[in-house]
Amino acid sequence: MTDRVRKPEWLKINIGANERYTETKRIVDSHCLHTICSSGRCPNMGECWGKGTATFMIGGDICTRSCKFCNTRTGRPQPLDSSEPTHVAESITLMKLDHAVITSVDRDDLSDLGANHWAKTIREIKRLNPKTTIEVLIPDFQGKMELLDLLIESCPDIISHNMETVRRISPLVRSAANYDTSLKVIEHISQSGTKSKSGIMVGLGETPQEVEELMDDLLKVGCQILTIGQYLQPSHRHYPVAEYVTPQQFAIYKTIGLEKGFNIVESAPLVRSSYHAEKHIR
Ligand code: SF4
Ligand code: SF4
Repeated sequence: MTDRVRKPEWLKINIGANERYTETKRIVDSHCLHTICSSGRCPNMGECWGKGTATFMIGGDICTRSCKFCNTRTGRPQPLDSSEPTHVAESITLMKLDHAVITSVDRDDLSDLGANHWAKTIREIKRLNPKTTIEVLIPDFQGKMELLDLLIESCPDIISHNMETVRRISPLVRSAANYDTSLKVIEHISQSGTKSKSGIMVGLGETPQEVEELMDDLLKVGCQILTIGQYLQPSHRHYPVAEYVTPQQFAIYKTIGLEKGFNIVESAPLVRSSYHAEKHIR
């Protein structure tokens, strides 16, 4: 495994900013909000922000966990900002979003792990934007289903929880999270009747066979939507890239996933959980 694998042509992107990009940035900054787009150094920012979409990250910008693939800051978080739910909802109004995607840092420091803040944010988005559909990309809430229920009861349209990687690699790169707990979280979402979604990165050293096993595990717990994208090492301190998976292999994963029974599979090098997420609501 090496972190000196050369980045292929298909991952080179144009970060050009247009007027819409500047306006998106102005709205996000003026409401003192955080996005996973910028804290995760997402390669799609030029495209998404240029089209007026972004994925808001609530609960602050410091995570209590420290996954080896993630660029989000880690450490002791600030107290929750009680105005954040309204600021997120107002930004969605200004951005005229038909479909809003929200994620959060993990707040293992809070007694409710941030579940009530999540529910408040979803309700506030609905209050100010009744026609906007809502997708939430959530932490595992340590597998505490009563906390997950607080969020489910606020009725988002799609609930996503990322497996991130295959079973063998999961303990090597995820901090505190557990493969089977994540499957149980997705099962609980599916059983609630809410659309369930998950995402993984490839290029961490997994085999195609392991990806297929992960697909089978997800389908057994009722997951309907799967995203697969290339892992990109945020810095030399992060877990190294083992391989740049070819676009052809991504296409094969998509075909296999659909044949196995997912309703939607987005699989391409630059796919991220929230990439073109508005298409998944149909
Ligand atoms: Fe943000 Fe998601 Fe687009 Fe990346 S793919 S820029 S995280 S909305
Ligand atoms: Fe990043 Fe892991 Fe925290 Fe999620 S839980 S924000 S992947 S460090």
